[in-house]
Amino acid sequence: MKTSEIRKAFLEYFQSQGHEVVASSTLVPGNDPTLLFTNAGMVQFKDVFLGRDQRGYSRATSSQRCVRAGGKHNDLENVGYTARHHTFFEMLGNFSFGDYFKPEAIRFAWQFLTETLGLPKEKLWVTVYHEDQEAEDIWLKEMGVDPQRFSRLGADSNFWQMGDTGPCGPCTEIFYDHGADVWGGPPGSPEEDGDRYIEIWNLVFMQYDRQPDGELQPLPKPSVDTGMGLERIAAVMQGVHSNYEIDLFTNLLKATANIVGTQDLDNKSLRVIADHIRSCSFLITDGVMPSNEGRGYVLRRILRRAIRHGNQLGMKDLFFHRLVAPLVAEMGDAYPELKQSQAQVEKVLKLEEEQFAKTLEQGLRILEQDLETLQGTQIPGDVVFKLYDTYGFPADLTADIARERELTIDEAGFEKEMEQQKKRSKEAGKFKANYHDGLEVTSASEFCGYDDIAGESSVV
Ligand code: ATP
Ligand code: MG
Ligand code: MG
Ligand code: MG
Repeated sequence: MKTSEIRKAFLEYFQSQGHEVVASSTLVPGNDPTLLFTNAGMVQFKDVFLGRDQRGYSRATSSQRCVRAGGKHNDLENVGYTARHHTFFEMLGNFSFGDYFKPEAIRFAWQFLTETLGLPKEKLWVTVYHEDQEAEDIWLKEMGVDPQRFSRLGADSNFWQMGDTGPCGPCTEIFYDHGADVWGGPPGSPEEDGDRYIEIWNLVFMQYDRQPDGELQPLPKPSVDTGMGLERIAAVMQGVHSNYEIDLFTNLLKATANIVGTQDLDNKSLRVIADHIRSCSFLITDGVMPSNEGRGYVLRRILRRAIRHGNQLGMKDLFFHRLVAPLVAEMGDAYPELKQSQAQVEKVLKLEEEQFAKTLEQGLRILEQDLETLQGTQIPGDVVFKLYDTYGFPADLTADIARERELTIDEAGFEKEMEQQKKRSKEAGKFKANYHDGLEVTSASEFCGYDDIAGESSVV
C-alpha cells in the first residue's frame, strides 16, 4: 500500500465508524500561542476536550501534519540516527469527545490494524498503564492478545496529562516487531530504545480530572485521543524497516540524490536533508519565516542543518530550494496549500541558502582548526559561541557536527557567552533580538507553556 492509500484507508475506516473527517490544521497552532508547533492530532481539538468549544460532531478523525523540532517534544537530534523519527510527520488520529471510550477505541484500532490492513497479530506488541485493569481485560480477554506480547508500564510512558491539574488518564500503545535482525527489545525492557519494536499507535484515555490536591476525579464524559505515525505504519505495510525506505521518502531521496550528485540512498546526510525539506517547506507554507527568535529561529536552525549536510555531501552550489519541486510532486495532492506556496517557499529557502553559504565554509574551516588543538572530547563554549556569533552556526548545528566525531559541546559555557553578549548589547543600548531564544537547543522557553502542561510522556 502506498503512503497515500494508507492515509485514505485510515480516514475512510473511521468515517465508516461515524467519525467526521477533519482537515489537518496548520503547524502554527491557532488556539494556543504557548505551543511552539502543532505536534499532535489533538492540538486543534484541545478546547473541545476541555469543553470550551462545541462542534457539530462527537467523533472525529484526521491526518495531522506535525513538527517536533523544538519545545519538549524535540526529535531534531534523532533525525538521521533512528529509523522512526522525523522533524515533520503526519499523525493519523481518531477522537471521541465524550462519546465512545476504551472498548470501542481498542476495538477500532485492533480491527483497523489486523483486518483492514491485515497485519499479523504475532508481530504486534501491546502496552497498558499498569493500573488500567479495564484496558488490560479488553486486550487480553476480548481482543485475545497474547500475554507474551503484552506489558504493563508506569506513568512515565503510559499516563498522559494535559497539565498539573485537569484532564488526564492512562494510555495504551501498540508496537510492531520488525524482527530479530534489528537491535532492540520490547517496550519496558532495557533495550526498548532500539529500533526493533517500533511504537506505531498511542491511544490516550482521558478519564480523570486531576484536582489541585492531586486527587483524580472521574470525568463525567471520558474522551479518547489517539495518534499513529503515518510514515511508521507505511514502513510496516511496505515491508521495510526504516521510515526513510517508504515510497514517499524513496522518491524524495532519489530526487535529492540526483540534485546533490550521490547514489547512496542510505546516506545519513541525504536522509537528514530529505527530512528537513519537509519541515522547512511546510513551516514556510504555514507562515513561519526564518528569523533570529522563536519559531523562525527553529526554522532557521533546521534549514542551516540541512545546508551543512549538503556541504558534507560535497555540494558547493545552492541546492536546498531545488528540493521543493520533488516534495510538491510527492505531497502536493494531499496538501494543495504546499503546491500553492511553492514559489514562495523556494524563494525564502534560496535567500537563506545564499546568506548562509557566505559563512558556512569559513566557519567550518575555523572549526577544523579549533578541533586540531582540542583537548578532551568537548568543544568549548567560546568556540561554539564564535561559530554562532560570527558565522551563523546555531549551537545545535555545531552539536550535530560534534556528534559525528563523538564529541560534545559545552552548552553551559556557550550559554554563559550568550549571557555576556546580551549584557554587552544592552549596555551598548542596541539590544534587539532575544538571544536567549536562539541558544535553546532542547527547549524553547518562550513557548513551553503548553508543552509543560502536555506532559513529557505522551502528547497525543
Ligand atoms: P517515540 O517513543 O517513538 O518517540 P512518542 O511516544 O514520542 O514516539 P507519541 O507522542 O505517542 O510518540 O505520538 C503518537 C505517534 O506519533 C507515535 O506512536 C508515532 O507513531 C508517531 N510519532 C511520534 N513522534 C514521531 C516522529 N518524530 N516522527 C515520526 N512519527 C512520530
Ligand atoms: Mg518521542
Ligand atoms: Mg513513545
Ligand atoms: Mg507514545
